[in-house]
Amino acid sequence: MTPDNQQDVRALLNTCADEPIRIPGAIQPHGVLLTVDEQHWTVQQASANARQLLGLAGDIAAGQPLSRWLGEEQAGLIREALSNGHLEEVNPLALVCGALQLDGLLHRHDGVVFIELEPVLDEAHRPSLDLHLSRTLRRLQTAGTLEALYEISVNEIRALTGYDRVLIYRFQDQGHGQVIAESAAPELDAYDGLFFPASDIPEQARELYRLNWLRIIPDATYVPAPMVPALRPDTLQPLDMSYAVLRSVSPIHCHYMRNMGVRSSMSISLLKDNQLWGLISCGNRQPLQVPHALRAACQTIGQVLSMQISMLEERQAQLQRQAKENLLKSLAAAMREAEGDVYNGLIAHPEALMALAEASGVAVIIEGDVHLFGRCPSVEQVGALLKWVQLQATSAVETSSLSALLPEAGAYQRIASGLLAISLPKPVDNAVLWFRPEVIDSVSWSGNPETAKHLVGDRLQPRESFNVWKQQVEGTAQAWSVGDLYAVSDLRRSALEADLSRQVLREKDAVRARDELVAVVSHDLRSPLTVIVMQCGMMQRVVAADVSPSSKRLISAVDTLQRATSRMTNLLEDLLDTSKIEAGRYSIEPQALEVSQFFEDAWTLLTPLALNKFIDLSFTGEPHLKMFADPERIFQVLSNLVGNAIKFTPKEGTISVTASVEGDLVVISVVDSGDGIAADQLPHVFERYWRIREGNPSGTGLGLYISKGIVKAHGGELTASSEPGVGSEFRFTVPLAP
Ligand code: ADP
Repeated sequence: MTPDNQQDVRALLNTCADEPIRIPGAIQPHGVLLTVDEQHWTVQQASANARQLLGLAGDIAAGQPLSRWLGEEQAGLIREALSNGHLEEVNPLALVCGALQLDGLLHRHDGVVFIELEPVLDEAHRPSLDLHLSRTLRRLQTAGTLEALYEISVNEIRALTGYDRVLIYRFQDQGHGQVIAESAAPELDAYDGLFFPASDIPEQARELYRLNWLRIIPDATYVPAPMVPALRPDTLQPLDMSYAVLRSVSPIHCHYMRNMGVRSSMSISLLKDNQLWGLISCGNRQPLQVPHALRAACQTIGQVLSMQISMLEERQAQLQRQAKENLLKSLAAAMREAEGDVYNGLIAHPEALMALAEASGVAVIIEGDVHLFGRCPSVEQVGALLKWVQLQATSAVETSSLSALLPEAGAYQRIASGLLAISLPKPVDNAVLWFRPEVIDSVSWSGNPETAKHLVGDRLQPRESFNVWKQQVEGTAQAWSVGDLYAVSDLRRSALEADLSRQVLREKDAVRARDELVAVVSHDLRSPLTVIVMQCGMMQRVVAADVSPSSKRLISAVDTLQRATSRMTNLLEDLLDTSKIEAGRYSIEPQALEVSQFFEDAWTLLTPLALNKFIDLSFTGEPHLKMFADPERIFQVLSNLVGNAIKFTPKEGTISVTASVEGDLVVISVVDSGDGIAADQLPHVFERYWRIREGNPSGTGLGLYISKGIVKAHGGELTASSEPGVGSEFRFTVPLAP
């Protein structure tokens, strides 16, 4: 088909979808329709066949009272029936018109009463309906599987009604339909399993199917009987026949039926959650009248079937889930027990992994390595596909037509039109991808959906033949079921759990190993360091008296050695503290401490350092102030803060250390007149190993980190503020002694 032509077809299909099927302006002529205005009891409109079919006098016309049309008695019966609150209970009303027995069907719609009259058929040859119906319903209720349910329905309806062919037609995702059960006269071609294009039943027809349970066309070759007058006299609008059984159907539909070799048809809607799930569709090669009572029975079967379908589908989904539960359990166990990556547990059981999602192939990606099982695209293709999956902002990707989303996947659509993918939130490439093939070979179409309707002259015509031809459903796989999706997301959850607990274990192990290492190293290094320090002292004493140049060089070398060793000892201690703080095992032994005594000790120790740089170092605090702290530890904090202040304050600066009370806390503040800390660096000073290198050769970057940890262990807080060029303040709090 050329693109232009295709556009025309699409435009005409739209016209077809717009066809006014609710207001056809005519009825099927096997009955009569009268509309009555309930105020005046006059007939507003009557189908053109009414007088002739009812055998009425020629001067009877619309606008006259109903009693003129049907006689006082019948009109009275109708009026009485209409006073019943439940009209469906009075239908069909047994009426007579002359010698003619009629089924009267009443309903109200749009402000008028619809009276549909159908001559009663001779029913002598039919089996007892009640018996038959109750037997059918019993069978339907005991059906254990969907297949059995469908089978019983088509057979029973065919036996009840006498149609040549009864089938159940189920709608699919894209609106296409498939015949899922059939009972047909032996000489007819089987339709069971065939697919029908969505365009066979236009959207607005589907909507009517949803509103009405049943439609019937006793003879598709009928000549419609128009309504007279054509418009409603009260509204001057066409009559809305949405709920009229006699409503004339689209000529396109009749044409379609004729092409299928069907003269008479009836269809019953199957609803699930108030959505059109499918249809029971009946067809006959000869005209066939089905009286109202039988139609009502079929409708009941349709309703029971709808309920049973909902129930059994639910049960089937549950069974599927249960079956998958075992697979899930074994796969989850395999993941928990696997060495290394949790996915290693999956690749040990590829069959179970595929069965879980009923896939024909599966790819497992572990840290970027692709492992393929069953029918899969190539390693390179899977690698590229993985990149695309990772771009989708969801933890699970699901599609049954991959190439529609990712055109390059068209290259392997035969193998992988269906894709289901999960991955774990990890920094390394990881995923499980399940594949399903294109459904090409398993599908036969009852028509090519692209050309189901084609142009003849300027009007749309249904396809001329119903010969089945196969249509490749390009790039589409069988849809993933709810059960598949559940199973896969369950698997992902198990993988996530296994992976997390593994990470936690790994981390615990790592922390333990590090703590052990630090403890062992610092312990084992301390004794050799002590030896070095002692030996240095001895060497100094030995060579002290000797003033030769070589001895002087030796003394200065020993000095360096001593400084380096003490720095090493400090570093070891810092490392040990750090690992304790990180592991949350930093313990303190607090006691009541006189702040003034504490300050005096600090002054004694730190003043020589300050004097070296002519720095004015002062300590002031309220007398008799007591804090509750571990003396050694809190001294470590103070000496670190003052040590830093001295280190980062130029010569002749000032440092003041003060203690005050705030609530039940003692606040100790160290203020210096140093260079200060830039605003962008300030947030980092408490980080591990963070330090300025310039003029800070001995810094480890651990001092403030450890100090903060110690203060925290006391239940206090250590904070810093600074103004570059003016100075810095470090404050910490500790509890007031009780
Ligand atoms: P170290 O002093 O061993 O380098 P610290 O953790 O004690 O490690 O300090 C980290 C960094 O914070 C120092 O390198 C320095 O840049 C900055 N710092 C700390 N105290 C001061 C201060 N009083 N004035 C300016 N900078 C400071």
